[in-house]
Amino acid sequence: MITRMSNLFLRTLRDDPADAEVPSHKLLVRAGYVRRAAPGVYSWLPLGLRVLKAVEQVVRDEMNNIGAQEILLPALLPRDPYEETGRWTEYGDALFRLKDRKGADMLLGPTHEELFTQLVKGEYSSYKDLPVILYQIQTKYRDEERPRAGILRGREFVMKDSYSFDLDDDGLKTSYHAHREAYQKIFARLGVRYVIVAATSGAMGGSASEEFLAESEVGEDTFVRCLESGYAANVEAVITPAAQPIPFDGLPPAKVYRTPDTPTIDTLVAWANANLEGAFTAADTLKNVMVKVREPGADWELLGVGVPGDREVDFKRLEASLEPAEVELLTDADFAANPFLTKGYIGPKGLAANGVRFLVDPRIGDGSSWITGADEPNHHVVGLVAGRDFTPDGTIEAAEVRDGDPSPDGKGELVSAKGIEIGHIFQLGQKYTNAFEVDVLGENGKPVRLTMGSYGVGVSRLVAVLAEQWHDDKGLRWPRAVTPFDVHLVIANKDQAAIDGAQALAAELDAAGLEVLLDDRKASPGVKFKDAELLGMPTVVVVGRGYANGVVEVRDRLSGESVEVAVADAADAITATVRG
Ligand code: ATP
Ligand code: MG
Repeated sequence: MITRMSNLFLRTLRDDPADAEVPSHKLLVRAGYVRRAAPGVYSWLPLGLRVLKAVEQVVRDEMNNIGAQEILLPALLPRDPYEETGRWTEYGDALFRLKDRKGADMLLGPTHEELFTQLVKGEYSSYKDLPVILYQIQTKYRDEERPRAGILRGREFVMKDSYSFDLDDDGLKTSYHAHREAYQKIFARLGVRYVIVAATSGAMGGSASEEFLAESEVGEDTFVRCLESGYAANVEAVITPAAQPIPFDGLPPAKVYRTPDTPTIDTLVAWANANLEGAFTAADTLKNVMVKVREPGADWELLGVGVPGDREVDFKRLEASLEPAEVELLTDADFAANPFLTKGYIGPKGLAANGVRFLVDPRIGDGSSWITGADEPNHHVVGLVAGRDFTPDGTIEAAEVRDGDPSPDGKGELVSAKGIEIGHIFQLGQKYTNAFEVDVLGENGKPVRLTMGSYGVGVSRLVAVLAEQWHDDKGLRWPRAVTPFDVHLVIANKDQAAIDGAQALAAELDAAGLEVLLDDRKASPGVKFKDAELLGMPTVVVVGRGYANGVVEVRDRLSGESVEVAVADAADAITATVRG
């Protein structure tokens, strides 16, 4: 196909959109790939749609290669199945809910475990039918709290979601590994730089799970790696090694001190060093952070989170640990309503006395001794021993993970980096097949409950990720696998012979099977070159001044290099370059 820019539905913008912060968002809008319709809702224009379709096709290809079968479910869904699994409530505000004219509740699908499970239950009844992997490439809806960076985090977005159904755990593992390998192939073909990390299972429920994170400064996920051992995990999934219990014998009794004006960890440590024997750091203090938690369908409840005073609570880790419950920090009104909470001086004893659940970091093991709040203003207790003077209700992964922390596998130190989640694979197990009682007749005549996996790829998000990882300061740059056009042919010469020559070259490239974008607009070469850089096709061919001498210029948008090629050889040379 030859696409002529003189009538292509495209306007490039000189300025960055006011609401854009990250490069991919700025460039995709400026280059006319997408346009915003509402917060987190975008229209795909011709160039953007070509990239989106190309990503889709790579994903589809590799899914088909593992024997997955493509189907398409509705995005508009009834409430009932989501009620049966509890997700109508668990999804909270992220679910787009609507009512039909009869008043029946409906939703726009955020992910489709329920529907695929019901579908398989309806169609299959014998072990002979299994295993099966089904997938769709479909628009999903999530009312994200913070839609961000254009199509990177949309409220409407395209996902490939697949679901595997197996008779037993071994089968599930096989389906999971098939997906893992398919995803590796997909991301390699697309040219994404990524890492595979251990993940938490979140709202989906289930056990083993890994995420594919594209490495990027603008990512919202933080992951850690241990270079010595190869361990890699989303920080949300990092498990802190539990502290070894320390014998209580010989530990001095806890003692309350007046500690005037010490509401912060820093002021408390300064007081301890001035008034107690020994040297103290923030790590000797126990910081009790108050939050409120709401289980799906229940009321808000107070929760105290105890962490060593040298660490902050990482709110994302806290949220991941408490999912599907919601968490919020306490407001002044909450403190006013619970006068026993003495800001800056909260201690485990006061929480226990008032029936507040108290969870601690795993470093706070039995026999560890702490300086912490004494539940009255300007007072702290010294030598409060876990397991002797207070008994937490359990442990929680909420403390921040820091560079240099020991790797959970004990083999080195952790270093952190940022990433964007592009894929997620889950061994769900029987959460959904139990909810819908999905049994088939087994080989021995007895019913077998199926076990499930669920797997997602962020198809539209990948367009932004590729823009993010491949762009330079001049504009977009596309890997060949997804470029909207193989060749961007710029006519930069007003002579009729050159114009005709460019049209002929375009026709030759088209005949060779290449997708050609022909800049035949009445515009200056400068404008056309700038647009070519912004739009990002990997190969730019310029029919310019050199045409009179029998040459065209072939520019590599990635390396920035350019070569002159004889007009007679141009079509073959360009085709060879494109085909690699
Ligand atoms: P995130 O943590 O980024 O919100 P998630 O854990 O909610 O992602 P999944 O439910 O596992 O994501 O969905 C599968 C894939 O769909 C993700 O790996 C991601 O690539 C993509 N995705 C999820 N939410 C969005 C969104 N709001 N916009 C674009 N893509 C998304
Ligand atoms: Mg999400």
